[in-house]
Amino acid sequence: MANVNTFRESTRAWLEANCPPSMRQPIVDFEDRCWGGAKWKFVSEDQRRWLDVMAERGWTAPDWPSEYGGGGLSKEESKILREELYRIDARTPLFSMGLFMIGPAILKYGSEALKRQHIPDIVKGKIWWCQGYSEPNFGSDLAGLQARCEDKDDHYIINGQKVWTSYADRADWMFCLVRTDPDVVKHAGISLVLFDMNTPGVSTKPIKLISGKSPFCETFLDDVRVEKNQLVGELNKGWKLASYLLTHEREMIGNMGQAAASAKTLHQHATDVVGLENGVLNDSALRTDIARWEIDSKAYELTAERIRDETQAGQGTGATSSMLKYTGTEINKRRHELMLGIYGQQALGWEGDMFAGGTMASQWLRTKGNSIEGGTSEIQLNIISKRILGLGATG
Ligand SMILES: Cc1cc2nc3c(=O)[nH]c(=O)nc-3n(C[C@H](O)[C@H](O)[C@H](O)COP(=O)(O)OP(=O)(O)OC[C@H]3O[C@@H](n4cnc5c(N)ncnc54)[C@H](O)[C@@H]3O)c2cc1C
Repeated sequence: MANVNTFRESTRAWLEANCPPSMRQPIVDFEDRCWGGAKWKFVSEDQRRWLDVMAERGWTAPDWPSEYGGGGLSKEESKILREELYRIDARTPLFSMGLFMIGPAILKYGSEALKRQHIPDIVKGKIWWCQGYSEPNFGSDLAGLQARCEDKDDHYIINGQKVWTSYADRADWMFCLVRTDPDVVKHAGISLVLFDMNTPGVSTKPIKLISGKSPFCETFLDDVRVEKNQLVGELNKGWKLASYLLTHEREMIGNMGQAAASAKTLHQHATDVVGLENGVLNDSALRTDIARWEIDSKAYELTAERIRDETQAGQGTGATSSMLKYTGTEINKRRHELMLGIYGQQALGWEGDMFAGGTMASQWLRTKGNSIEGGTSEIQLNIISKRILGLGATG
C-alpha cells in the first residue's frame, strides 16, 4: 500500500508540473484530441509537449511493456494514473487506433520483429493507423470479405476494395484483413497484414457524413505489394486476431462518451441555461432525465472498471466488450439528445455565435454512427444473447 501511495503522490506532482493548463480544458473540436502521425498538425505547442512528455515515460500506453517503449506500469499503477489524469481533467495525450486496436494485437500475436518495428512508434504517436476491415457488402458479415492477397514467393500482392475506412486519407499505415485462401469461405482463409499507405496502388476517396465532415474513405487496393514480414500472426488464421482487435475497438468506442462527459457535466450545462431554484434545476422533467442519465453513466463506469479488472486478472471474456459497446454508445447518444434538449434551438445551427459554438448539432449527428462503427448494435445484441446469456443453440 505504501508503494501505491508513493506512486500516487509522485504521479500527482509530476502531472502538476508537466500537464499544461491548456491540456486540462474540455475537448471541443476534433483537433483538440491528438491522433499523432506524420500528417498530424498540432493545434498548439502545448499539445505537442503534452504528447512528448507522456510518450517519453511510456504513459500514452501505461501498461504496455517498457522494453517496447510502454510505461510498464502494474494494474494498480495504471489505475492510479487514470484517476490522477481524470482528477485534473487532463486530455488524453494521444488517441489512436494504434493504441486501442492494432497495438494490442501486435503485442499478443505479432513476431518479435513486428513488435520492435511498430510498438515504440505507436507509443510515441508517430504513425496514424487506419483500419481496413469493411468492404462493400461485407460489414456485419465481415467474414465474407474478398480483398485478395496472393503469395508471390518473397512478397504478397493485394487487390480489392475497402469502405468506411476512417481517416484513410490522413493515415500513414493500414492494418488490413485480406483473403489469403480463396478456396475456403468465411472465417478460414483470412489474414491480417500491415502496409504503408504510401505504397503504390493504394488510393482513397473521401465519403461525406451526415455530420458534414468527411473522415471516412473508400480505399482502393490495386496490386499493392506487401512484405511478408508484415503478416501479423499466422497465415489464414487472421479471424482470431480480427476478433481480438474488435474487442478492443468496441471497448474504446463504448468509453468515448465517458471521456467527453467528464469535461462539463450535463448538470452544469443545464444550470447555465435553465438556472437553479432553491438549489435545484429549475425544470423538473429535465432534472429527472439528467438524474437517470447520471445513474446509468455511473453504472457504466463501474461496470467498465470491473470488466477491466477481470480482463487484467485473465478472467475476461471478449464478449463483454459488446456489452460495453452497446451500453456506452447508447449512453453517449442519450447525452447528446439531452444537450439538444437543454440548449433547444441554440443547439441546432451549424454556424454562428448564436448557435452555442456551432458544434452541438454536428456532434449529435456524429453519435448516430457510434452504434454502427465497430459492429452495429444489433450485432452486439446477438453476441450478448449468444455468448453471455447463452440463448440460442448455435453461434
Ligand atoms: C463512423 C463510422 C466509422 C467507421 N470506421 C470504419 C473503419 O475505420 N474501418 C472499417 O473497416 N469499417 C469502418 N466502419 C464500418 C462499420 O464497421 C460498418 O458500417 C458496420 O460493421 C456495419 O456494416 P455495414 O455498414 O456493411 O452494414 P450491414 O452489415 O449491411 O447492416 C445493415 C443493417 O442490417 C443489420 N444486420 C446485419 N446483419 C445482421 C444480423 N446478423 N442480425 C441482426 N441485424 C443485422 C445491421 O445491424 C444494420 O442495421 C465505420 C462505420 C461508421 C459508421
